Amino acid sequence: MRVVLAAIGVSLLAASTLHLRAQPAHPRTHLVIVVDGLRPDSVTAEVMPRLTRLGQRGIVFTAHHSVFPTVTRVNAASLVTGTYPESHGLLGNDVYVPSVNASAALDTGERKNLEAVARTDGWLLGVPTLGEILQRDGRTLLAVSSGSTGSSFLLNPTAGTGAVIHADYTLPPELGARVLAALGPAPPHATPNDPQNQRAIDAYLKFGIEQLRPDVTLMWLNDPDGTAHVNGLGAPLTRRSLMLVDAGIGRIEDTLRSEGRLDQTNIIVTSDHGFSTETGRLMLSALVAPFVRKMDDGSPDVVVAEGAIYLRSKTDPARMQSIVAALQRRPEVGAIFTQARRLFDPVNANERPAHDKLFDGIVPGTLSFDVARWGNRARSGDILVSANWSHAANSAGVPGTTTQEGVAGHGTSSPYDIHNTLIAAGPDFREHATSEIPTGNIDLAPTLLQLLGLPVPQTMTGRVIREALRAGPTAATVRVDRLAETVKTSDGSYELTAHTSVVEGHRYLDYTEVVRH
Ligand SMILES: [Zn+2]
Repeated sequence: MRVVLAAIGVSLLAASTLHLRAQPAHPRTHLVIVVDGLRPDSVTAEVMPRLTRLGQRGIVFTAHHSVFPTVTRVNAASLVTGTYPESHGLLGNDVYVPSVNASAALDTGERKNLEAVARTDGWLLGVPTLGEILQRDGRTLLAVSSGSTGSSFLLNPTAGTGAVIHADYTLPPELGARVLAALGPAPPHATPNDPQNQRAIDAYLKFGIEQLRPDVTLMWLNDPDGTAHVNGLGAPLTRRSLMLVDAGIGRIEDTLRSEGRLDQTNIIVTSDHGFSTETGRLMLSALVAPFVRKMDDGSPDVVVAEGAIYLRSKTDPARMQSIVAALQRRPEVGAIFTQARRLFDPVNANERPAHDKLFDGIVPGTLSFDVARWGNRARSGDILVSANWSHAANSAGVPGTTTQEGVAGHGTSSPYDIHNTLIAAGPDFREHATSEIPTGNIDLAPTLLQLLGLPVPQTMTGRVIREALRAGPTAATVRVDRLAETVKTSDGSYELTAHTSVVEGHRYLDYTEVVRH
């Protein structure tokens, strides 16, 4: 209660002083730079000096959280909706949407697949996006991106009075000619993708600010993700991609400063997820294959979409148990999630999860979807699987491996995939500060709305990161609880623990841990 009162008192004070201040030459705006796949430990003075200095000027968050599954499009959706997959319904980089394709998953990296989902399901994201909320208030959101056509589309799917600028398209389409006139043709994709990253930066600096005057800009930079996937963490080319992104961030700051805009621009630098070295061969489809039967039309009755398993036939608890048991025996399999176990409540005469069973899935030895906040009524599957992980370092000395197949990647509930970057600097943020209070990608949209003086809708389950704001309470007044909840198989051979942090009623999944006996 004390925290709430303090926050209200301070924000009233801030509002009243605002009227006394002389009008600045430029309006206050907000720039969110998403550096795809940037791990916090990559932000060093040697490799990323400009981002390091930006953090020293403002505030560095040491306990930021990606949303699980820790993949790009899930987090793009969470970033703009301020909530989890359970509400926005974008459940993976690959998703299973039977109305579009009943027998296979769709790649959400393709904008046309997202448009097909929106068309056939009647909705793409189940809750309003930041762009839509701003538009209702007569404000605009600009998205500039060097990511996939799908991830850029998710940033502002119903662009409305706002815009999306991508190498392959613009929203609205009629903006294309003006963008081309201002920036020239888009360069082809490269590794590192610096030419397209710089064009996304130019789309903001040389076109967006002047011509669209956005209140909020979401800038998505495709590195280090694209380079690290192929070359690995700590590899020379991945380091180079980080240095190029850093120079781009420096160019943004320098340009804004020279134009007199920097002191009116809040710059938030974050990443969609962390990254790990891949050392295994987890093949979920192959592990599930023995349990697959044929539907009447000959198509398989099980669909695997990344880590999600969908049983197309009617609910069959015995089969679910057999699949889960087979997965629990495999060392490359990490956390397994199923629907929350619901207990009959005779008082209310309806089904609801008993409070102490929030963590338990319906299959013994699994966590509930509620732990991952993945249980979407219309779209979640029957089983959600994460690869396993370890603290081991790769040949370049970068810690964190997973049992996924490849060079380097993300997507698991490992702390190296979940723990990601958040750094902010600008007129509303504390200066020369570090915060250990847990935060998450779901908190960015509510925090931006607070900075714009707009109410945070109930659909946003993220919190306003008040302790980071000059007008907010100090970190010392924010209570953080840490919980560990363990589920296990009846024979005790597989033990799964969820580690979570709770801040003011907001629960963040820190990581999961599996022990096999
Ligand atoms: Zn990503």
